[in-house]
Amino acid sequence: MKFNLDDNTAKSSILLIYTGGTIGMKVDPAEQTLKPFDFSQILEEVPELGKFAYRIDSCTFESVIDSADIEPRSWQALAGLIEERYDSYDGFVILHGTDTMAYSASALSFMIEGLTKPVIFTGSQLPIGVARTDGKENLISAVEIAAAKDSEGHAVVPEVCICFGNALMRGNRTRKVNSENFRAFRSADCPLLAEAGINIRYNTAVIRRPEDWNRRPVFHKELDTRVSILKLHPGITPQVVRNILCGPETRAVIMETYGAGNAPSKEWFLDLVKEASGMGKILLNVTQCLAGSVNMDLYATGKKLENAGVQCGYDSTTEGALAKLFHLMGMYTENAKVIDGLGQNLRGEITK
Ligand code: ASP
Repeated sequence: MKFNLDDNTAKSSILLIYTGGTIGMKVDPAEQTLKPFDFSQILEEVPELGKFAYRIDSCTFESVIDSADIEPRSWQALAGLIEERYDSYDGFVILHGTDTMAYSASALSFMIEGLTKPVIFTGSQLPIGVARTDGKENLISAVEIAAAKDSEGHAVVPEVCICFGNALMRGNRTRKVNSENFRAFRSADCPLLAEAGINIRYNTAVIRRPEDWNRRPVFHKELDTRVSILKLHPGITPQVVRNILCGPETRAVIMETYGAGNAPSKEWFLDLVKEASGMGKILLNVTQCLAGSVNMDLYATGKKLENAGVQCGYDSTTEGALAKLFHLMGMYTENAKVIDGLGQNLRGEITK
C-alpha cells in the first residue's frame, strides 16, 4: 500500500512494517478483549504522516500477532523483508507489540551486520484509535527518525532502535520496564540515542556508524535457539538447577545472577555449574539488576563461577544476551567461536 505521496518530491522513503501489537488493536465487542485490526485503519488514524514529504509504503505480516506470539521465524521474516527491500528505502519502521519488542529489536540488531539505514521499532500502550493514545506520537517520531539524513545524505541513526515515549534507544540495550506508563522502555546502561521534544535531538556521539557506507549489510538469518535461562533465587533447588543447566536440549544457558554476577557458593551449585560446563554447555552470566555490569573478579562467588567456565555477560540485558547467543550459535558450530563472540561488543550491546 502506498499513500499520499508524490515520488518526485519525496525526500526520504520509508517502509512501514506492521506485525501487530496494541498500536493496531481495537476492542472486540463480543469478547471485550483487544484484537488486531487491519493496518489500513492505522493509516486512517494518523493522517499527520501525510504531512511529511516522504514516500511511505507499508506492508503487513500475513497474520498480525500479539507480540507474545513472536517467534524466531518472525525475526527471520523481518530480516528477509528488509534485505529484499533494502535498496528501495532510506529507513524501516516496524510496528510491534511492546511485550517482546526488546527481544525482537535485539535479534534484528545481530541479524543485520553493517547496517547503513535506520530500523526503528515502535508500538504503543494504548491503541491508536483511543483518545489519549501514545501510538500516534510514537509512530510519527519513529518515521521522522527513520527518514533523517545528515548533510552528506547518510542516515542519522543507522541502527536497530526502539522509539518509545519520546526516547530513542539502542534496541539491544532496551527492556520493557512498565506495563502501563507511556515511558514503557528503559535503556539503563546506554545513553539515549535521541530525545524527541520540540525538536528531535540526536546524541551523535553515541550513535554507531558503519565502517563503509557503500557496503551492503550482511543478513545473518541462521539462528540456533537452544538456549535456556536460569534465574537464581534464594531457595532454588539442585533439581531445578540441574534440569536447566544440564538439560539435553540446551547448548547454552544464560544465568541471571545477583548483583555484579554472584551466585550461591554452595558446593552442590558449583558442582552442577562445572558439570554443565564439562558437558560443553555455554554458560553466560548476566545480572538480575536493572542496571550495571557483571564483574566476576569482584567477589569470591563470582570468581568461582568464572573458574567453573562461566562467561561474563558484562552489562548485557537478558534480551540482548538471548539474541546474541541465538545469532552466534546460528553462525558457529564450534563453541569456542561463540564464546569468543560473546566477549566482543558486536553491535553496541555491551559496554567494553
Ligand atoms: N500484548 C501486546 C503485544 O505485545 C501489548 C502491546 O502491544 O503493547 O503485542
